[in-house]
Amino acid sequence: TLHDKLNAVFKKIKGQAKITEDNIKDAVKQVRLALLEADVNYKVVKKFISAVQEKALGEEVLKSLTPDQVFIKIVHDELVNVLGGDDQSTKIKLNPIPPTKIMLVGLQGSGKTTTAGKLAKYFQKNGKDVLLVADDIYRPAAIDQLEILGKQLKVDVFSKRDEQDAVKIAKEAVQHAKSAAKDVVIIDTAGRLHIDETLMEELKNIKEAINPDEILFVADAMTGQDAVNVAKTFNEMLDITGVILTKLDGDARGGAALSIREVTGKPLKFVGTGEKLDAFEPFYPDRMASRILGMGDIVTLVEMAQDAIEEDEAEKLATKIQKKGLDFNDMLQQMKMIKKMGSFESILKLLPGFSGLGNIDVDESNFKRIEAIINSMTPLERTNYKILNASRKRRIAKGSGTSVSEVNKLIQQLQQMNKMMKKFKKQFSGKDKIDKNM
Ligand code: GDP
Ligand code: MG
Repeated sequence: TLHDKLNAVFKKIKGQAKITEDNIKDAVKQVRLALLEADVNYKVVKKFISAVQEKALGEEVLKSLTPDQVFIKIVHDELVNVLGGDDQSTKIKLNPIPPTKIMLVGLQGSGKTTTAGKLAKYFQKNGKDVLLVADDIYRPAAIDQLEILGKQLKVDVFSKRDEQDAVKIAKEAVQHAKSAAKDVVIIDTAGRLHIDETLMEELKNIKEAINPDEILFVADAMTGQDAVNVAKTFNEMLDITGVILTKLDGDARGGAALSIREVTGKPLKFVGTGEKLDAFEPFYPDRMASRILGMGDIVTLVEMAQDAIEEDEAEKLATKIQKKGLDFNDMLQQMKMIKKMGSFESILKLLPGFSGLGNIDVDESNFKRIEAIINSMTPLERTNYKILNASRKRRIAKGSGTSVSEVNKLIQQLQQMNKMMKKFKKQFSGKDKIDKNM
């Protein structure tokens, strides 16, 4: 299995301190395979791999990890980043002056009409009044399909069965939406089996006539590689604002997501995961990254690497504290780590003597207050709390929007922790003697 293969590779190079072109050769190969298997376009794979490789070379490796593991973690993080990271561009922008106009475009069968219904339901759940527009005039069945969805959702559908001009319908629909005070208009357009000049012209004209807030390209994830060229053309012609990837419930490994994002530079906004109207969710870059890298082995490796990196940070902090005592910078860092690692326990394991304390309360609002207090201190005050006299305390309380008594409480906490640390250091000479349960 892939896992065995990777393990064998790791054994060979364990204990190397830096990532070199040589010691990640096998990992690069595995990642390249995973991406190709996920149906990422080969040009995109090549560009992506060489970018991360460059980024990774020379990177220090933690003692608990191998260069391969660190590399795969870098790949994963970069993948999340390329797919959109935490950026907010994956959200639909609502126009402050309603209605927000959303135009769905894409090839025939990609899932536009279904997605129109799903989007309508999504907005409906968020308390918006939606108008669906049947602007695929070439197939009467397309109008029926949307009307059925509208009935099911109790959402109004605008259609004109004997109008031959899709631009006119779009314009009238927007007018109607305005007078009916709709919040969102979703326009379902016609698709073709292949890209086609006449259709592109029509879509461009609709765009010009109604000036949509969003032009969302609907792509079938199952089409993998082909989706790339189609996405490119649609983007060139219409300057799309985002992408919806459908049919991710099938075998599709999501490679199209990376390819389309890379080729168009436009954010993915939603994914469709089934034929039903609620099989629809916002796009999550980290989930897609894991899917692309392959559910099993590589993802486990990424998780292992993440744990190890966090543990290493905690260990460094513990060593420093044992040597020099605890200051406010440590306190802040420690609290951040607690938040990140999700539990106090994980750090306690590494810090002798902490469990006996009336710990820092990491409740969210309390954390913010403590953070504000420490942030209001000068660098010198943070490393040397003994200089905190009455006037300094007053300044800090004022700066952080807290009180002098809160500042005092925090100083006491730090003093108490340091006292405990000293006691423990005296009591135990070696780390190995410390009972985990204390
Ligand atoms: P359009 O031609 O672009 O309007 O595509 P349709 O909305 O009519 O969808 C084409 C087919 O794909 C229909 O059979 C849909 O039920 C199906 N479909 C659409 N989205 C999804 C999805 O996310 N998952 C699955 N499994 N099927 C989907
Ligand atoms: Mg349709």
